[in-house]
Amino acid sequence: MTIQEKINSLREELNAHNYNYYVLDNATISDFDFDIKLKELEKLEKENPDFFDENSPTQRVGGIVTKNFETTTHQNRMYSLDNSYSKEDLLDWEKRIQKILGTSEIEYTCELKYDGASINLTYEKGKFVKAVTRGDGFQGDDVTQNVKTIRSIPLNLKNDFLSDFEIRGEIILPLDGFRKMNEERAENGEEEYRNPRNTASGSLKLQDSAEVAKRPLDCLLYQVFASERKFNSHFEMLESARKAGFKVPNTMHLATSIEAVFEFVNHWDSKRHDLPYETDGVVIKVNNLQQQEELGYTSKSPRWAIAYKFKADQVATILNEITYQVGRTGAITPVANLKPVQLAGTTVKRASLHNADQIEKLDIRVGDTVFVEKGGEIIPKIIAVDFTKRPQNSLPTMYATHCPECNTALIRNEGDAKHYCPNEFGCAPQITGRIQHFISRKAMNIEGLGAETVDLLRKEGLIENYADLYDLKVEQIIPLERMAEKSAQNMIQGIEKSKEVPFEKVLFALGIRFVGETVAKKLAKHFKSIDNLMVADFETLISVDEIGDRIAQSIIDFSNNLGNIHLMNRLKSYGLQLEVSEKQKENQSNILIGQVFVVSGVFHQMSRDELKKAIEDHGGKVSSSISKKTNFIIAGDNMGPSKLEKAQELGIEIISEKQFIDLIA
Ligand code: AMP
Ligand code: ZN
Repeated sequence: MTIQEKINSLREELNAHNYNYYVLDNATISDFDFDIKLKELEKLEKENPDFFDENSPTQRVGGIVTKNFETTTHQNRMYSLDNSYSKEDLLDWEKRIQKILGTSEIEYTCELKYDGASINLTYEKGKFVKAVTRGDGFQGDDVTQNVKTIRSIPLNLKNDFLSDFEIRGEIILPLDGFRKMNEERAENGEEEYRNPRNTASGSLKLQDSAEVAKRPLDCLLYQVFASERKFNSHFEMLESARKAGFKVPNTMHLATSIEAVFEFVNHWDSKRHDLPYETDGVVIKVNNLQQQEELGYTSKSPRWAIAYKFKADQVATILNEITYQVGRTGAITPVANLKPVQLAGTTVKRASLHNADQIEKLDIRVGDTVFVEKGGEIIPKIIAVDFTKRPQNSLPTMYATHCPECNTALIRNEGDAKHYCPNEFGCAPQITGRIQHFISRKAMNIEGLGAETVDLLRKEGLIENYADLYDLKVEQIIPLERMAEKSAQNMIQGIEKSKEVPFEKVLFALGIRFVGETVAKKLAKHFKSIDNLMVADFETLISVDEIGDRIAQSIIDFSNNLGNIHLMNRLKSYGLQLEVSEKQKENQSNILIGQVFVVSGVFHQMSRDELKKAIEDHGGKVSSSISKKTNFIIAGDNMGPSKLEKAQELGIEIISEKQFIDLIA
């Protein structure tokens, strides 16, 4: 086998596994084996840059940063849909189109209305070339690099479906993935995302495509445009698109009459909560493409299609009480305790009220009759108060002034949505929550110790903070409930082993408000030790890339706290990694400080990502586009001609990969 054949066969194999896993939901290889093959392909591609292909499965991991998404005009306008809310509306629509077409023989395709962000994908010669958001329907933003990371979108088609075409779909965040993302955010002490739809559309506008690649986005397709006339019906065309590798949901259904459409609508109105993603209705389309053409468009929407909106599941119930939950970082979440009521197949007793502003906006009071809806949000939401039913003696809600757990006065920083309890060291859920976060998998990853045991150890008075873990002795643990010698030993071993966890993870484990995993990494790289970080002033902190006022202030608050200073000294004395190791330091310097680099083309010795990392490790900055601020362009093979021209115009120095490596050596 020649190298090229080997590369091609790996690409095909990886594409097939991606397809099986992300489109068919049927894994045909373990993650581990997949990674090995992907690494192998990456290596071959790096060694043989002549065979570079921007649609290779290696290009799905992202890493390209887009500062400004280019506005792009749609070749075919992206229309809205007319809405209908009842059977009568649908019958009216049918009458209108029967009249225009002069026939009552009309077939319909019924699809679910997927609730996400619409996207237009362009393919040329069977290859993915571009993805543009809907925007205002006439023009949208080019988000190609971000969309490429969505594994269920084929970059090369499986067959000769069509050569040049546009295909439209909805980028969605399945409910499962959405929940996981929120669990992670809660763990990092960050405010949770409100609903999957906004999170999906927000994801498309992230600047770093590597971040997009980490999100479990999916793309469901519903419309094809091509000048080649290969198909007679919409249904047939979508079925073929599915065979070509696109994710066209199997819920799509061919209805031979409007009565069959009603059946579809009824079925999904009651079954929609069983779907792995959200839907807010059904889209009904005239199936015959020639009939579609005859019907054409109004100024806003196609005449050949109509959306039927499900009624959001909504019920009225009574607000019994507002209670307040205290999170690990002290953030307070008000919770509506409701008179239990059935909604969309579950009993609802509680709903989040998010924060004080939300309560004020709703003007919600204890004793009120409220409307609860299960719509976009996973947690039921209170959408309004029925003011006509408000008891006469009702009083406006006074937001909690003191912590329900420790009675400390709550504070709210400017710009923060939430109040919080500042009693870090004396507030029970904060103390326990902080230790639970400390030991968690992404932090210190302490084996043999779980959240419940932390609770138990606290109750037994054996620990008050995470430093106390390192003083625990086997003899103290054995007598505890459900503990034996073996499990006690495992726990102590796990704690001992955590002393090797690298600084960036320790920093994350400390549970500083707003310092999640990514921020901890950035801080660790920049400051290199907890000592440097804790003496940094506000100006120094915000000068670090991506560190804003809020994070900076939180770090300062943490560092000025005597209790924390004492804790850090203890952790140091136990031998935890509170600075970057020598090995990590070796490949880092400040020689590129103040220098802005643009990386363009294909490289031989390092991958693009490695180059970028090297620039940052040595203090430089990477930018995606050339501007007056650019100091150097590192040019590889096939650097774009427009970039070259712009660089020459601005007189920016262009250096080779080799020159760069010499520079940092
Ligand atoms: P609207 O934004 O309410 O005018 O509805 C139109 C939008 O519905 C389109 O832009 C699509 O993004 C979205 N949509 C979701 N599912 C479908 C589907 N199966 N067929 C057509 N459009 C759909
Ligand atoms: Zn408290």
